[in-house]
Amino acid sequence: MSDKITMTADNALKKLMDGNKRYVENSENHGDVSSAVRLKTCTKGQEPFAVVVTCSDSRVIPETIFSAGIGEVFVIRVAGNVIDDHQLGSIEYAASHLGTRLIMVLGHTNCGAVGAAFHPDDDNKYIRFILHEIRSAMGDETDPDKACILNIKHSVAVIEESLEIQKEEHEHSLKVVGALYHIDTGEVELV
Ligand SMILES: [Zn+2]
Repeated sequence: MSDKITMTADNALKKLMDGNKRYVENSENHGDVSSAVRLKTCTKGQEPFAVVVTCSDSRVIPETIFSAGIGEVFVIRVAGNVIDDHQLGSIEYAASHLGTRLIMVLGHTNCGAVGAAFHPDDDNKYIRFILHEIRSAMGDETDPDKACILNIKHSVAVIEESLEIQKEEHEHSLKVVGALYHIDTGEVELV
């Protein structure tokens, strides 16, 4: 793990939640996407303060809902925000090469992937891999909202176990949190 640190996990979490509050209040993106920051990050590189692993759902727009701009959030998207080796490799890269210390798994309400996990597989070739992962997370839960949260917590646990992330808090340590995005209100709620 790199000694370089962009921002402590606790400060990064506060920045995400404050950014979401601004978004909810104004329904605008206050992130800096100017040509100045574009050129700066091109020249000096990126220093994202948080990794956000979220669903591919088009109603979830990570930078906007956190009022983030260019170079601030390292986003990993996959339907159902499930975790496999490719996601883990991306997280490991952000942590070890970019100095990012906070990892947020962001599920969302009305998730189609979670909803589909309640139904038997049709003959799709690849979707079943996502659904199998969600089913292993939700077990025999029958409530879609609760299943969604179980799926978020499962992804958090997989990241913590796979990357051997210690849960004890140290100033420079990695932290993984789960959160639920409400697609109607725009609010992000820690779970
Ligand atoms: Zn979804």
